[in-house]
Amino acid sequence: ERLKEILAAAAPMEQATRPPLAMSFGPDELWQAIYGDELVVHYQPKVDIHHGSLVGVEALVRWMHPEQGLVYPDRFIEPAESCGLMDELTMRVLRTALRDCHKWHDEGLDVSVAVNISASNLNVLGFPDVVQHLAREAGVEVGSLCLELTESMLAKDLMVSLDILTRLRLKGAGLSIDDFGTGHSSLGQLLQAPFNELKLDRSFVTGASEDMSKRAILEASLRMAKKLGMRSVAEGVETRKDWDLMKALGCDLVQGYFVSRPMPADQLLHWRAQWQDQ
Ligand code: C2E
Ligand code: CA
Ligand code: CA
Ligand code: CA
Repeated sequence: ERLKEILAAAAPMEQATRPPLAMSFGPDELWQAIYGDELVVHYQPKVDIHHGSLVGVEALVRWMHPEQGLVYPDRFIEPAESCGLMDELTMRVLRTALRDCHKWHDEGLDVSVAVNISASNLNVLGFPDVVQHLAREAGVEVGSLCLELTESMLAKDLMVSLDILTRLRLKGAGLSIDDFGTGHSSLGQLLQAPFNELKLDRSFVTGASEDMSKRAILEASLRMAKKLGMRSVAEGVETRKDWDLMKALGCDLVQGYFVSRPMPADQLLHWRAQWQDQ
């Protein structure tokens, strides 16, 4: 109880340093996290680099652990995947994100919301219909939703994945290649899927102004995105220098601590007011 009070009193913005990785979690605890409503979703803005306007947000799941406080997904996504709990986790994040998106639209924030999906979602043939159902339930157009997936997720069963992704795209969902440049899939395979957004991995973005090889990778990726008609997003923009470089290189959108840390849904309106005043 005391911990809950401390947590509630703490600044809701996420802190710069995270606790070191401790023991991993067992299936019972993970089950409790998901079905016991201990997950929360924070949102990080994606802004237009030329106009500075808020375009969308990325939903990032966190676990309000009863003893450990805020636990980050690097500690529980993989374990949840191996316990077969990711379908349920994704559903819950999707439902929450779509509901929050509906609230923002009511507040006059015209944003889209991006949700990270996992490899197991691409095995479920009914996934596009589930997405459509959840959007309808929340009162949000499927077009306000973007799904982010990494290159390596396509590798497993390419035909089934392509089928699912194509149907999602036809329903209007945006599709984003996450962490571009870090996977090992062939470019040919990647380009068969109907992606409309490419996210440059933060390992290339952060500090790129001091690193010629990062810069070369960014330039090549951006050229490719433009040729293919995909919108580009730089993640991990931490400094003014990172921002200026991405602008000079012609990137479309920016996400990172320089703009904002992930935040609870009800802070987005206030954040935007402050951001616009700068
Ligand atoms: P990601 O999809 O690449 O998400 C971006 C990560 O970078 C987030 O970490 C975000 O908090 C962090 N980040 C944002 N800006 C900066 C920056 O300027 N500098 C640095 N150093 N980091 C920044 P987070 O929230 O810990 O998430 C880690 C990963 O966990 C995500 O990486 C994603 O792969 C996965 N994940 C998060 N939420 C979900 C979810 O709901 N479902 C699934 N399947 N995976 C999720
Ligand atoms: Ca992502
Ligand atoms: Ca990413
Ligand atoms: Ca990542």
